[in-house]
Amino acid sequence: MSQKRIVIAGAGLVGSLTAVLLGRKGYKVTVLERRPDMRAVQIPAGRSINLAMSDRGWRALEKAGLAEEVRPIAIPMYKRTMHDEQKNLTYQPYGKDGEAIYSVSRGLLNKLLLSAAERDKEDVEILFDKRITDVDLDAQVLHIRDEETGQQQEIGYDILLGADGAYSAVRNRLMYNDRFSYSQTYIEHGYKELHMPPGADGKHLMEVETLHIWPRGEYMMIALPNPDGTFTCTLFFPWEGKESFASVQTDEEIDALFRRRFPDLIDLIPDYREQFRHNPTSSLMYVKCHPWNYKGNILLLGDAAHAIVPFYGQGMNAGFEDARIFTEMLEANDWDFEKVILAFAEIQYKNGHAVADLAMRNFVEMRDLTADPEFLLRKKIERKVHEKSPSEWVPLYSMVTFRETGYAEAWAEGLRQDRIMEQVMQLPGIHENWDSDAVTDLVLSLNKTVK
Ligand SMILES: Cc1cc2nc3c(=O)[nH]c(=O)nc-3n(C[C@H](O)[C@H](O)[C@H](O)COP(=O)(O)OP(=O)(O)OC[C@H]3O[C@@H](n4cnc5c(N)ncnc54)[C@H](O)[C@@H]3O)c2cc1C
Repeated sequence: MSQKRIVIAGAGLVGSLTAVLLGRKGYKVTVLERRPDMRAVQIPAGRSINLAMSDRGWRALEKAGLAEEVRPIAIPMYKRTMHDEQKNLTYQPYGKDGEAIYSVSRGLLNKLLLSAAERDKEDVEILFDKRITDVDLDAQVLHIRDEETGQQQEIGYDILLGADGAYSAVRNRLMYNDRFSYSQTYIEHGYKELHMPPGADGKHLMEVETLHIWPRGEYMMIALPNPDGTFTCTLFFPWEGKESFASVQTDEEIDALFRRRFPDLIDLIPDYREQFRHNPTSSLMYVKCHPWNYKGNILLLGDAAHAIVPFYGQGMNAGFEDARIFTEMLEANDWDFEKVILAFAEIQYKNGHAVADLAMRNFVEMRDLTADPEFLLRKKIERKVHEKSPSEWVPLYSMVTFRETGYAEAWAEGLRQDRIMEQVMQLPGIHENWDSDAVTDLVLSLNKTVK
């Protein structure tokens, strides 16, 4: 095996998984991470973030031989539980029986991946407190600043994998290249985490194996369970406007918001006022760029290539899928990095753009449509058709979450399904007859004709 100098920028989720995948194949990999080693640092309050892991994520972990290690820290969520303003609950299963997405703490998962990467100590070296400040593309040299000592350093590379996240320094450098397209869009919502403690018995205060949603039209709260009996609640809320972070600031304003919009959370998060005032508010943005490579020696992966808003629960899943597909393409092409970087970048970028669009679409679905009886009926019909004919009709959510269909293909298919279901929902008597064979047959027959 030729000993290339492989450098990975960023020891986040995607960088450390990629290091595991390459290290296991005997490649010497250096990972540069600007932060200190998170295994020795406490995560600040209000920044815990738990992620929904779905099939794409699991498949990549399996490829790295890590799925069984991650399972004990993952809680299955089989359905959505919607909370309305009168404290009523409704439910919507995510998939067929047994299909679930999994709540995992981002911090715990990242620590596990760092330790797994370092297990191949001879092959993988992770250097912390090393911030990449620039990349000399022609000389193939990285400029680095040690965040502790302030010392400048240079490291050469043959292959550079830019997994340095949404504000990637590697991507930043590529932006100076001719014909590099780039867009960064901040959405009108930010987010704030609130921590729901366990009950007196140490157990969860709400049903555990479900993702809780408080859909409120223009905004929403969600809650994902943690193994220690707590929930991480996240409020996705406009920055400006009548109900917004700008207009809800004092205890009275926070109180009024919770009494009117989240009454069932008042008892469950007793210090909601303090948390609302003190926990940080963060922005949300998405990035589309192209190409993801520079010649055959630099490739962007994960958020560096496709930062997205979190509403489909796909950011990490898409990044893990990048790492898996990249490794599989290397295996199939005799580890010809140059060839695979060019091919991967050209195939995958369309999926990166599509998953950004899917995530924005799902925001509207979660915050607004999950409270809409027409939408819930449509989902019930689709579920029935899928159960009757699983190979012919796969709902968009299942394609994205439980299959490996490319995101671009799923997006196009989802738009086609919209056209079919718009017709079906117009049928006279659909509310009474939705579970009749006639309706199922109609969907399947339209499925054959509608383009
Ligand atoms: C609120 C929220 C909820 C989310 N929910 C989900 C979910 O449910 N499901 C899901 O799949 N995804 C979710 N995501 C997205 C997910 O967190 C990201 O997609 C994932 O973390 C991307 O991994 P990454 O390794 O590409 O980037 P990151 O995890 O951001 O890692 C990048 C790393 O690079 C380092 N770095 C940055 N710049 C430099 C530099 N100049 N030099 C050296 N190192 C550098 C950073 O310190 C960091 O460690 C969510 C995100 C947010 C914010």
